[in-house]
Amino acid sequence: MCPIDRDRLRQLIHTEERLFIDLHPRSRELSLRAQKSLLGGVPMNWMVEWASPFTLFVQEGLGAHLTDVDGRRHLDLCLGDTGAMTGHSPPAAVERIVQQARRGLTYMLPTEDSVWVGEELARRFGLPYWQFTLTATDANRFALRLARQITGRRRVLVFNRCYHGTVDESFITLKDRAPVSRPGNIGPPIDPTVTSRVVEFNDISSLEAALAPRDIACVLAEPAMTNIGIILPDPGFHEALRQITLRTGTLLIVDETHTLCAGPGGCTRLYGLRPDMLTLGKAIASGVPAGAYGISSEVAERLREQKGRIDEGAGGIGGTLAGNALTAAAMRATLSSVLTAEVYAHTVQLAQRFEAGVRAVIGALELPWNIVRLGCRAEYSFRKVPARDGTEAVASADAELDRYLHLASLNRGILMTPFHNMALIAPDVTEADIDLHTQVFREIARAVVA
Ligand code: PMP
Repeated sequence: MCPIDRDRLRQLIHTEERLFIDLHPRSRELSLRAQKSLLGGVPMNWMVEWASPFTLFVQEGLGAHLTDVDGRRHLDLCLGDTGAMTGHSPPAAVERIVQQARRGLTYMLPTEDSVWVGEELARRFGLPYWQFTLTATDANRFALRLARQITGRRRVLVFNRCYHGTVDESFITLKDRAPVSRPGNIGPPIDPTVTSRVVEFNDISSLEAALAPRDIACVLAEPAMTNIGIILPDPGFHEALRQITLRTGTLLIVDETHTLCAGPGGCTRLYGLRPDMLTLGKAIASGVPAGAYGISSEVAERLREQKGRIDEGAGGIGGTLAGNALTAAAMRATLSSVLTAEVYAHTVQLAQRFEAGVRAVIGALELPWNIVRLGCRAEYSFRKVPARDGTEAVASADAELDRYLHLASLNRGILMTPFHNMALIAPDVTEADIDLHTQVFREIARAVVA
């Protein structure tokens, strides 16, 4: 098996940094200017997480490509970390968005589009009642509130190394098997070890033990983890999760924000899941801010029995702009014309090609790496076999290798998602684009092998 030559890796990073600086004078200028008005030189803190020595500024994004302010064109496999899984500005959605923008953006009254979207989400995910938010984070936060309201229980359970947005209760992790507030958790209102319990994904006996006291309102889970590499559920895991939650009176919230990559009905449809609530966001409006949560008939009934009825505007749940006309129009256009079954057939097939290409390079170079795919998303990681839980996944992280591969890809016109070695395939991607990635991956991976 081929080890990595660390000295060469550091030299390569240095060379790629020089190259990036030479290739991006205009981005450099803007980065320097931005330092004076934007905290950290970016409008949003995570934008500094890219591997480049300074921030890359975008001129435009169209379909599967971005053009930066220096006129360089990149194949975008990051796609706004899923917000642009539809491709950038898909024409069918843009036409409808522009049309709606001319007729008013927000009314605090619904349009017919919202009804269509509710019906379509019910058809895709099997949950009958829906509410809209502006982000997936909000959808999760509101779903947690509803779960607490219904069950009268305070705590929630999440899986180790999950990410569900900036949801306070989810910033808990396992350190040496003990629950702790996640490193970097900024100013938590309450220590998450008070509000939450955490177990490893795929660990049925720990899950059973954690829910046994019957004091957990809900489990909030991605059906396959996607924020610490891709971790697929073991066979039987979801059946056990559903049985244990039902037996202990714990509600099950499935977060499909990223796993919508699995198909038109996400993993819920693919695996035949029956959650009590389901949350969504990011791509469902082609990049217009949008989130949604669905609830089962039983949850709706239990809410009706409660004082804080959902349809009377329960306290702590809301948002003036949530459910606005623009978002509803964008969601309708996206679900009817962009994220369709035909489009998934195309993007999933290309993701399979991506997976095969990466796997062939890993095999040829005898690298102790693997690649996992879920629908039109694929991610490779630096361990021989795919991780089964968050602890295993974190143990194989390699910041230096990540930095090199991301930066070298970027300099060769391919954008990978920061803090992931992930590729998400947009509808406009072609086989030639995938083959370009395979070629670049082969070239840059070969360079670090000792
Ligand atoms: N759920 C999952 C699974 C996510 O990955 C994310 C964001 N990466 C969110 C929810 C939150 O999305 P947003 O930041 O758009 O609110």
